[in-house]
Amino acid sequence: MNVCYQNKDLECVNRSSLDSIQTAGLQFSVAQALKTKFYAARLKGHVSSPEDIRSLNDLKRIPFTTKDDLRESYTDGILATEFKHVVRLHTSSGTTGVPTVIYHTQKDLNNWTELMERSLIASGATCEDIFQNMMTYGMFTGGLGFHYGAEKLGILVIPTGSGNTKRQLQLMKDFKTTLVHATPSYMFHMASTMNEHGFSMKDFNLKKAYIGGEPHSENTRKKIEELFGIEAYNSFGLSEMNGPGVAFECVYKTGLHVWEDSYILEVIDPQSGELVKDGEIGEIVFTTLRREATPILRYRTRDLASVIPGVCPCGRTHRRLSRIAGRTDDMLIINGANVFPSQIEQILMKVPEVGTNYMILVSKDGALDKLTVQVEIHSKTFHGDMSELGVLKHKIKDELKASIMINPSVELHEPGSLPQFEMKAKRVVDSRIKI
Ligand SMILES: [Zn+2]
Repeated sequence: MNVCYQNKDLECVNRSSLDSIQTAGLQFSVAQALKTKFYAARLKGHVSSPEDIRSLNDLKRIPFTTKDDLRESYTDGILATEFKHVVRLHTSSGTTGVPTVIYHTQKDLNNWTELMERSLIASGATCEDIFQNMMTYGMFTGGLGFHYGAEKLGILVIPTGSGNTKRQLQLMKDFKTTLVHATPSYMFHMASTMNEHGFSMKDFNLKKAYIGGEPHSENTRKKIEELFGIEAYNSFGLSEMNGPGVAFECVYKTGLHVWEDSYILEVIDPQSGELVKDGEIGEIVFTTLRREATPILRYRTRDLASVIPGVCPCGRTHRRLSRIAGRTDDMLIINGANVFPSQIEQILMKVPEVGTNYMILVSKDGALDKLTVQVEIHSKTFHGDMSELGVLKHKIKDELKASIMINPSVELHEPGSLPQFEMKAKRVVDSRIKI
């Protein structure tokens, strides 16, 4: 395996040197945070100056920051620099209420670009690649984050943004695109509509895909790799921590290296707030270490994942995060049992007769909750008669029951009959009355 680094000394640094880097970074972040209205108030009685941070043990003295804190700080409650030094802002979509805003100085953008370049190098990209960025540009950080990182690495970037599948396929063919960045749903959408747009897999020179923007299982990755005959890498990021480039897979694909010179990672029990052991799933908490304009301390992401124990064969010492197992607020409680939509996806994507599209419906059936899983079957399995598929239906039902400990109702649907998602898929519909 060909392992390349952006900065081998830093990526393979010993843990005690990394602790010193993080301690200095935390002191810087606390100094910046104290310049903001929000943290000046929030840190009162906990930390009053960067000198209060003597080691990483002092991190515990700092209270958590939540999404609601960021919303309440809109528009400038967490701004540590003067407006004239800010060169860009990104806001969240605000679909569930007040948006959140992250400001960047030029130095912040340079640091983000550097982390994104490091991520691309770690996954084996080089300046000889041709990169078609199918992620939304604009306020959504996925597009611009990858764009600048790829350009810094000297890659030829085709900034298509999302959508317009026919044009995407045409450009992929014409310019012999080797890398793409897209959501898993969009990769499936391209594969399933390729023929109707007049293309086939042999028209393309694709080598790698970066898939992100929505949580997905290992089986989804495998399915994408098989469909396109490529390597697919899991990309993780969140706008509160810049966007993409927080954690990335190296060529060994054994988890996402968190760039710990720029972020402190904690994995906590969502109830108690205490750290969980490596290998155990908990809520991911991040602290920025280098950001000037919008420092964020101990941010509770609501994403659930675990630290992968052991060392990676690539030699990097930055710890690895598992895939996202769900979100603390995605968890469905069905008749008292905790169910994550990702568990259901994992099972479905293992069944070869299942297509790429499914829906999860939760409703009330009298006093009880009812879980219905609608599954599109694979076009190769479908021969025009759904009634032949009773055995498959039972197989799926049994496998789901064994995994989630709940007896779901399973409905099989013809290929192409369930709602299609080009961007972030909304596969869960919970119609229970909220009290
Ligand atoms: Zn590695």
